[in-house]
Amino acid sequence: MPADPLDILRTTFGFPAFRGVQERVVARVMAGDGTLAVMPTGAGKSLCYQLPALARRGTAVVISPLIALMHDQVRSAEAFGIHAATLTSADSDRDETMRRFREGELDLLYVAPERASNPGFRELLRLTELSLFAIDEAHCVSEWGHDFRPDYRLLRPLLDAFPQVPRLALTATADEHTRADILQQLGLPQDGLIVAGFDRPNIQYRISPRDGLAQQLKAFIAEQEGAGIVYAPTRDATERLAAQIAEAGRPTRAYHAGLDPAVRAKNQRDFVASEDMVMVATIAFGMGIDKPDVRFVAHAGLPKSIEAYYQETGRAGRDGEPAVAQLFWGAEDFARARKRLGEVDDARVAGERTRLNALAQLVETSECRRAVLLRHFGEHPATTCGNCDNCLSPPATVDVTTVARKLLSA
Ligand code: ADP
Ligand code: MG
Repeated sequence: MPADPLDILRTTFGFPAFRGVQERVVARVMAGDGTLAVMPTGAGKSLCYQLPALARRGTAVVISPLIALMHDQVRSAEAFGIHAATLTSADSDRDETMRRFREGELDLLYVAPERASNPGFRELLRLTELSLFAIDEAHCVSEWGHDFRPDYRLLRPLLDAFPQVPRLALTATADEHTRADILQQLGLPQDGLIVAGFDRPNIQYRISPRDGLAQQLKAFIAEQEGAGIVYAPTRDATERLAAQIAEAGRPTRAYHAGLDPAVRAKNQRDFVASEDMVMVATIAFGMGIDKPDVRFVAHAGLPKSIEAYYQETGRAGRDGEPAVAQLFWGAEDFARARKRLGEVDDARVAGERTRLNALAQLVETSECRRAVLLRHFGEHPATTCGNCDNCLSPPATVDVTTVARKLLSA
């Protein structure tokens, strides 16, 4: 008898109810229908494949782009009593994982796209029953996404080799163009798209021009209670800003890919455990880090795209309590990005330019920031949110026009 999803939600996961669109996504996967779930960071995407993996017979194959992310996922799945493993070049227990897989002992098997697209792997998958394919960070399949990975393109033959196995693609970040592309690239039906609301009402968005960054950051951080992340554009900037922020007496750590892995892991652990630490990091930091009480995220420079901005700021306030996202930008950020345009191949220039224009619109607007952000994701938000810099203290130019309009209409 097939297990009941709601029972599993309560008994295995210990959650009283589905959140938002989870129920619809799970229902589609249970029915075997191909689905693309676009859900913001923190909305609970993992559960959308973990639960059907338990409720359906067989093992779920989860495609995920980063080994560190996979290990975090396995750890959190195991904490719920789910049998999960990774199959990566970093694992020394691959033989044992293969055995567990063949004997049907695994609920979830996490692999990277380059392994998944390997014909040998396809043969391995024939050795046992599969419950579903989950393609995490599915925007990586699209050149329109902000993080294109060619290996994701090679997944299609694997999926097509198992036509009876349902496929579920998941992403936090996909504009309408990217969504359509993901559906097409992964062979998902047009009506398989489920989009959750993107609004994060507890996050206060603030955007200011840079003018003495270190001072601005120190002043901003001095106002903030709780732990937070500062995203810096380069490894050097990370260490320099960390030293400057530490001068103000706040516990501070740096994080970037150039640090010794043991140091990096320790800094991350310290941050997750702390209630007031500032982590100054490159964007290598954040994916898969489970810290619901991050109270602020500051950007020392322009993010790569609106999607990246949304994802990075989305690490603040996952517990639903008030949080602040502060971006400091400069005209030189745009100049640098425009220069990079000349270096990408023609096919991608249009996408890059669109992304840059959207960012320019967000930082320069005197309208509600949230409205600009949510419209970018295809939503129809209210014109004011009351919880962004422009709504809380309207810029002078807007004051003038408002006053002028009032005078005219009087
Ligand atoms: P995402 O991948 O969408 O960023 P996660 O899958 O990491 O989000 O889930 C974020 C958090 O929400 C996790 O701590 C998870 O256990 C929790 N969560 C997921 N679904 C529910 C639910 N229905 N009720 C309560 N908490 C949930
Ligand atoms: Mg996730």
